[in-house]
Amino acid sequence: MSFYRLILLSIILSFSVSAKESKEVAMSWDAIKVADNLYMLIGVGGFTGGNLAISVGYDGVVLIDDAMPSTLDIMNKALKEITPNSIDFLINTHVHGDHTGNNEVMGKKGAWIVAQQNMRRHLLSKGVQGADGKMMDAPKKSLPVVTFSQSMDFHLNGLDAHVFHLPHAHTDGDAAVHFTNVNVIHMGDTLFNKIFPFIDFGSGGSLDGYIEAQKTVLGLVDENTKIIPGHGVLANKKDLENSIAMLEDARAIIGKLVDEGKTQEEVLKLNPLAKYDAWSWGFITTEKMTKQIYKGVILNGDLGNK
Ligand SMILES: [Zn+2]
Repeated sequence: MSFYRLILLSIILSFSVSAKESKEVAMSWDAIKVADNLYMLIGVGGFTGGNLAISVGYDGVVLIDDAMPSTLDIMNKALKEITPNSIDFLINTHVHGDHTGNNEVMGKKGAWIVAQQNMRRHLLSKGVQGADGKMMDAPKKSLPVVTFSQSMDFHLNGLDAHVFHLPHAHTDGDAAVHFTNVNVIHMGDTLFNKIFPFIDFGSGGSLDGYIEAQKTVLGLVDENTKIIPGHGVLANKKDLENSIAMLEDARAIIGKLVDEGKTQEEVLKLNPLAKYDAWSWGFITTEKMTKQIYKGVILNGDLGNK
């Protein structure tokens, strides 16, 4: 079983359990207006995929991320309530299937797909999950047709959107989209709001890069900025500061234990992140977070970035 399939499966499983417990809540996407011509879409009732954003107006339709095949119908329903028009540009924040799972459908309908260049490379080398659950080559229409290395800008619907790369963070192909003239930013999975994040070391992510990415964005926001996280509810500057503080503290706590020569097993026994249990969720529990930070500290050491 591939790494991606494992991730997706464990996300779906952890959420389907809670859905069953709450007696089959129907899933849907809620739209939140964050500025004129700009909406955040967040899934409710279960795990629908990463948070989306959509810009609509005279110039066309720009969608940021497109969730996963299992939630395509409810996503289309939510998008239709905002605009009857098809998607002109689709920006992918990164490669994961819960953010890019409907790329082929969008591409076939004529959307121009845009992403950081490493994201396209990952899609080509790792493929995508097919309808039967098996990995297969990424269909041509699912691939970005426009890529960038550092940044690019969109000027549509009265919005100035600065799309920029955050290196070695959640993956090595992360992009954030900063709508500079309306003070909104979509961070993709470089922010999980109020819940433990996932860092995909296998796709070039890193602990220090993840923290650095959040600090970079912190330098761009103010008290009024609306921050769309990849997962979790709409965030603000304080939420971002809380995330950085939690990550830096977790890195310091576990870094000290690593310096003392403790094994992962010994660290887990100490449960050093117990004070952050409120951040635990189905996919990244406190134990998984502890393992992830441990690995992140070790890897950063190996890279000489410690
Ligand atoms: Zn992700």
